[in-house]
Order: sequence, then structure tokens, then C-alpha cells
Amino acid sequence: MSDQKLATNALHAGHDTTQTGGTRAVPIYQTSSYVFNNTEHAANLFSLAELGFIYTRLNNPTNQILQDRLAAVEGGVGAVVFSSGAAAISTGLLTLLKSGDHIVASSSLYGGTFNLLNVTLPRLGIHTTFVDASNPENFGKAVKENTRAIFVESLGNPKLDVLDLKAISKEAKAAGVPFIVDNTVATPVLLNPIEHGANLVIHSLTKYIGGQGTSLGGAIIDAGTFDWANGKFPEFTEPSAGYHGLVYHKALGAAAFTFKLILEGLRDFGGALSPFNAFQIIQGLETLPVRIKQHSANALELAEWLQSRDEVAWVKYPGLKGDEYYNLAQEYLPKGQSGLVTFGIKGGFEAAKNVTDATKIFSLLANIGDTKSLIIHPASTTHQQLTEEQQLSAGVGKDLIRLSVGLEDINDLKADLEQAFAAANIKA
Ligand SMILES: *Cc1c(COP(=O)(O)O)cnc(C)c1O
Repeated sequence: MSDQKLATNALHAGHDTTQTGGTRAVPIYQTSSYVFNNTEHAANLFSLAELGFIYTRLNNPTNQILQDRLAAVEGGVGAVVFSSGAAAISTGLLTLLKSGDHIVASSSLYGGTFNLLNVTLPRLGIHTTFVDASNPENFGKAVKENTRAIFVESLGNPKLDVLDLKAISKEAKAAGVPFIVDNTVATPVLLNPIEHGANLVIHSLTKYIGGQGTSLGGAIIDAGTFDWANGKFPEFTEPSAGYHGLVYHKALGAAAFTFKLILEGLRDFGGALSPFNAFQIIQGLETLPVRIKQHSANALELAEWLQSRDEVAWVKYPGLKGDEYYNLAQEYLPKGQSGLVTFGIKGGFEAAKNVTDATKIFSLLANIGDTKSLIIHPASTTHQQLTEEQQLSAGVGKDLIRLSVGLEDINDLKADLEQAFAAANIKA
């Protein structure tokens, strides 16, 4: 997608001002429910003979504008929003899969997603094989007869591995299963996974898209490209017991999964986004194209500065020349590599904790993608629950510090880390 088109879509897509009383801003429709014209109208809405609003757990006009805008910026046929990124992932997988199904996933995933796949879904009979994503063929090799999805992050958090999406999408296509890409860290401005073969794109809207650290939200964008009639997904080609005999594939075509997410996923699991949060996230999405470029520029400059420091053992940022993922980043993220930087501090676990405790501008907290700079020591926090081996395959060493580089003056950020190294008494 051209930069111009993307910036325009981020500001306008989905909002017809003639339908909202001329309001230039997208209004917040803070209502749980909608008045039907009469019982026949209500019956038509429930049977999908007519499309319209029924109840905010299923949809809401503010949320619908956000959904249409996200579909436009990612290049999908539809999108559904959820109360958080985790709700998007769990509802998406539970709408798609059943007991006995199998997932192949990258081993470098967001900690919460790793736990969902590794501990919680197995309780429901859905098992995952984790593979080293640096070799795309590993995905195909792990596919079994009951595999029903391949799941990755385009830019892994916190390993900062850039995946060869085109090559992995070929493995998914050969296996006849949907290729699901969590694009939270890269954002739709820097990377559109659908252009590289993704069938479903996931976002935690809490991060760069919302961008201000105020509101949780999540989304699934449906490319509309997956062939649900390939024989592996009878839930789409046979009458649905959960929605009075609806045959999703026949009735809804390319939008089959989008509707299943609403009619069954949101109806039954209930992880709907509050319209107030949708409004906040829309404000963020409108300025995402300019913000993410500055996050990327600040992150690159800070990564280069860290490389020059004697207290620092190593630095990872996919935009750094010499980084393991530099070439893939040039291919998949040529406009910028987003705002996350990780580095190892000399002195290991304790030194990393001490530096994290000593920063003043960087806030110690468990989030990314805020306009304000953030810092965390994953081995003692977000990835604490993992075994040492799992920590290493997720790219989390004991000395690793993760920065989410914000929009402050870059010299103030360098000075803050410099004083933290001194306060923590890091020996070069
Ligand atoms: C934060 C995050 C999530 C979970 O999103 P929440 O909005 O916190 O529920 C999922 N994937 C990635 C890559 C994330 O960074």
C-alpha cells in the first residue's frame, strides 16, 4: 500500500460523516443496545436477512468504524475488534479450532500468547508444536494431519526476529491451513502481512495503534483469502449448529471467518471492545503513520548509541547493520523497524535489574508502544514463568533489557541511560 493511501485511510476510512450527524470526529456510541423498527425488522437482523446493530457485544457503530479502518489499513475484507489483544487471539483460535486440533507456532512469541498455546489450550485438547522460525521449512516439517493453523509474530516480541513471511506462507498454503500473523510490533504502517500471504492478521491495539498507553484493545483482520472449503474445515461448509444452520462459506464467501468471529466468537466468549476504548484507539490510529516513523528513527539512533557504549555487551535492533535480521528487515520493514530495542548489559541478571531500576525517563512497566519510553527486564518479569530453555528460545537471556523507545528528545534518552549505567555501577 502506498504511504499516501495509508495515511488517508488511517484518518478517514470507515467514517461517512453524513451518517453521524456531520461530526468530524468519530462519535462514541455509548449504548448497549439498538431499537428495532418492529418485530419483523428484529427477526431479519437476527437471521442476517438484513445487516444492522443488535447488541454491543456483537457490534457497535464506533467499533464498526474502527473495524472498517483497520481492514482498510491492513488490506483485508473485514476486521473484528476485541477487548484486548489477548481476547483477539484466544477468541480467534477458539472460533477456528476444536479439541484434537493442532497448531504450529514460532517459538519466539509474546509471553501471554506462548502461555495460551503452551499451557491453557492443551487443557482443551488443542496442542501446539513450537518451531525455530528462522528456518521457514521447520513449519512444514511440524505439520501433522490434524494441524489447522500456523501462528507467528511478524516482528517477534521481545526476540526482535523478523520472519520470512512469504516463505512461511508457502508452508501454510501447502498444508492447507490458515497463516495467522500477529503484526502488533510492526504495525500496518511498516508491514502488511496480507501482501506476503497472511490469511489472518492480529493486533494488540493497546500498543502502537492506540499509542498513548490509555486503552486496551485487540483486532483480527481477515484477508478473505483462505479457502475454507478445502475439506479441513467442515464448520464452514456444513450447517452450523451454533447459528441456526447457517453455512458460513456458502452464505458469506470471503467474509465467512469475519462473521463467524462476530456471530459465534463475540456472542459466546463475550470479549467485546468498549466503544469508549474504540474511540481512544481511533485517535491513535489517525496519527500512527507519523508516530511510528519517529519511534523507528529514535530506536535506530538509540541502538547505534548503545552499540558504542562499553557497558553494553550486545545490542539487537533489526535496523542495525550487522544484525542477524538486517537483510529480512530491509525486505519486510524498509520504512522503519519499529520502536523496540533490546540489549545485554555487562554484569548479567543483577546488573540488568539495577540499570532498569535506575532510569528516570524510561518508565519500568509491562507495556510497549506508548509515546513515552518504557523499560523492562523480561527475565525477572514477563518471562519469569518460563523455564530457562523456553526463555532462551523466546530470545530472553538473563542480561536482556527491553526498551520501547518513545518520542522524547533522543539526547534526553541517551543521557537517562548513561546516568542509569553510572548509578548501577556497570563496569565496562
Ligand atoms: C501485548 C501483546 C499482545 C497482547 O495484547 P493485550 O492488548 O495486552 O491483551 C499480543 N501480542 C503481542 C505481540 C503483544 O505485544
